[in-house]
Amino acid sequence: MKIGVFTCWCGENIARTVDCEKVTEEIAKLPGVHCAVTYKYMCSEPGQQLILQKIKELGLTAVVVASCSPHMHLKTFRKAVEQAGINPYLVEMANIREHCSWVHPNKNEATAKAIELIRMSIEKVKHNHALLPIEVPVTKRAMVIGGGVAGIQAALDIAAAGHEVVLVEKEPSVGGKMAGLSETFPTLDCSQCILTPRMVEVGQHPKIKLLTYSEVESIEGYVGNFKVNVRKKARYVDMKKCTGCGACWNSCPQKKIPNTFDYGLGNRTAIYIPFPQAVPSKPVIDSVNCIKFKTGKCGICSKKCAAGAINYEDQDEVITEEVGAIVVATGYQLYTIDQKTENNKLSGYGEYGYGKYKDVIDALQFERLISASGPTNGEPKRPSDGKIPEKVVFIKCVGSRDNAKGINYCSKICCMYTAKHTMLYKHKVHHGEAHVFYMDIRSGGKKYDEFVRRAIEQDGAIYHRGRVSKITQEEGKLVVRGVDTLAGRPVTVEADMVVLASAMCPTEGAEPLAQKLGVGYDEYGFLTESHPKLRPVETNSAGIFVCGACQAPKDIPEAVAQASAAAAKVMIMLSQPVLTREPEIAKVDEQRCAACFACGRSCPYGAIERVEIKDRNGNTVKWTARVNPGLCMGCGTCVAVCPSKSVDLEGFTEQQIYAQIESLGAIN
Ligand code: FAD
Ligand code: SF4
Ligand code: SF4
Ligand code: SF4
Repeated sequence: MKIGVFTCWCGENIARTVDCEKVTEEIAKLPGVHCAVTYKYMCSEPGQQLILQKIKELGLTAVVVASCSPHMHLKTFRKAVEQAGINPYLVEMANIREHCSWVHPNKNEATAKAIELIRMSIEKVKHNHALLPIEVPVTKRAMVIGGGVAGIQAALDIAAAGHEVVLVEKEPSVGGKMAGLSETFPTLDCSQCILTPRMVEVGQHPKIKLLTYSEVESIEGYVGNFKVNVRKKARYVDMKKCTGCGACWNSCPQKKIPNTFDYGLGNRTAIYIPFPQAVPSKPVIDSVNCIKFKTGKCGICSKKCAAGAINYEDQDEVITEEVGAIVVATGYQLYTIDQKTENNKLSGYGEYGYGKYKDVIDALQFERLISASGPTNGEPKRPSDGKIPEKVVFIKCVGSRDNAKGINYCSKICCMYTAKHTMLYKHKVHHGEAHVFYMDIRSGGKKYDEFVRRAIEQDGAIYHRGRVSKITQEEGKLVVRGVDTLAGRPVTVEADMVVLASAMCPTEGAEPLAQKLGVGYDEYGFLTESHPKLRPVETNSAGIFVCGACQAPKDIPEAVAQASAAAAKVMIMLSQPVLTREPEIAKVDEQRCAACFACGRSCPYGAIERVEIKDRNGNTVKWTARVNPGLCMGCGTCVAVCPSKSVDLEGFTEQQIYAQIESLGAIN
């Protein structure tokens, strides 16, 4: 093997603490090294050309690049050597940046360590052999989970490219949170006016199969070939027969059920559509509250339905959808009272009186109060007595940026929507006062800072920089006590209503869904992207993508942009005749395998099957574990647990790892 070693300076990133010239001089002396070269930017075009030139000139057969993390540039260097006719898996990288120059201040020590790291990679590459990418077939359909604005955008984009899409939404209608918003920053256009045409398009698109009131039950398969079991919950209404005439919900006597779409501020009937513009515009029966289900009596909706669409015997149905790629767009929820479980996450914030005082509401409730389609037809009437509030206090960062009681992160959009809320309130109540308590104003975004200034300078919102310490109810008023740290004085506002801009969290059920899909999530439950900068919509599970607020707090423009990016990735996948995967996966020595199946039990991706080996007469010779190349992610867990050492990982064989370790031992 003729090995070339190419040491990169990474500008000053490496060269500042590693003497690259000295490294090259020492490496050149090692056995098997045919050439050792150093250059300022090895990943740049001239850097890659240098590698190509040396391969051709000296007939190199393997390459070690000493530079940054392989996460950053392994693909770059693999492509480069391939151009010179070397199998891309005959390249190794020694990470002398993250593992060396960035973490060691002493130049002599860092230089010595860089030499050792490169020596290890040289010993490893000596045992590399040529590998070929794995080819898997691809089912040319996609699934989008979550029908908020992000999921809708992703589904429409994929369908526009001519691919079939299955859109799974757990609620009876698509639309997500945006369907309930009033007007949207920074343009103040009506949320429903922008969204509802897209909801209708999703409902009517010939390439989109819409499964509302449905949830993913389980998933099997792998990139390009997923089988997803979806539970369609019983609606008790036959979707094919129903004409959406409304005779049923208009005659239902059970009228006082809090409508979760209005966050408990309005009521609905037991048979209902969540809001008038719902897609599909066909009802479901809430069997928990329906008189017929509770007592066996009533049945009025069935009598009123001319189409004969009511079916009290309806059952949940589990269907299987085969798709090649999946986009997860399950969105967010606020850190407040969960309307379904009634769990009050803000119970630790007793000082605000949320859940105790009727007129202390959350920001999404305020959206419904000022929405033309809301329970008060857009009049900001306070919940306790329906009066128009003359003074409203808006409190930002409720639960956000609070290591002690809440969550650490910034929810990112509350500064903007609070400014919007003050404006919309003042547009409706001209003489009213809008007070805002804030820690900072974070309004980065196109025309965002201008928007906040407009709220203050044109519409007269009164901003106090400081925290609220206590809200009490005194003589019909909510007395808000806080401080203004800029003015250096306490502030007391006697308010008629208080609106809490509470933290944005992942939606309920995001974690179990992520576990089913094998997708990573952070400590808060937000789904994790593969790389925050370079692979922002991919996940660690090949073929599964994320977009919208399920990945992090986001506003609509960002959610939509990310949805289109995820859709583009899906389109790229579905336009391939076959998919190729990295061949660095586990391989079982089937003769040696003792069929204990410890590997199968430990594999986090379910990639190991138990297979019967038969002779030509059909008699069982033995059982063995076998790796499904479509599913294996090359994590190496199985290698570690196999008691008979029958599994090894291509590209990271025991031989390679021991060669690296022994090369270190040789020095010490
Ligand atoms: P969502 O809107 O949450 O949609 C997610 C969808 O997935 C929902 O339909 C949900 O039912 C569904 N779902 C969840 N789990 C599952 C599951 N397991 N299976 C199937 N379906 C599932 N942004 C702006 O740009 N301008 C504004 O003016 C603005 N105002 C706002 C005001 C407030 C008070 C708040 C809180 C937010 C505001 N936003 C605004 C932000 C905006 O709401 C979000 O950016 C947007 O809704 C994110 O869309 P999404 O599709 O990612 O998530
Ligand atoms: Fe559908 Fe029948 Fe209700 Fe009309 S009355 S909306 S057809 S279920
Ligand atoms: Fe309403 Fe009665 Fe129909 Fe139940 S059976 S949905 S209570 S009308
Ligand atoms: Fe499963 Fe990891 Fe082994 Fe592959 S390497 S079979 S993913 S345990």
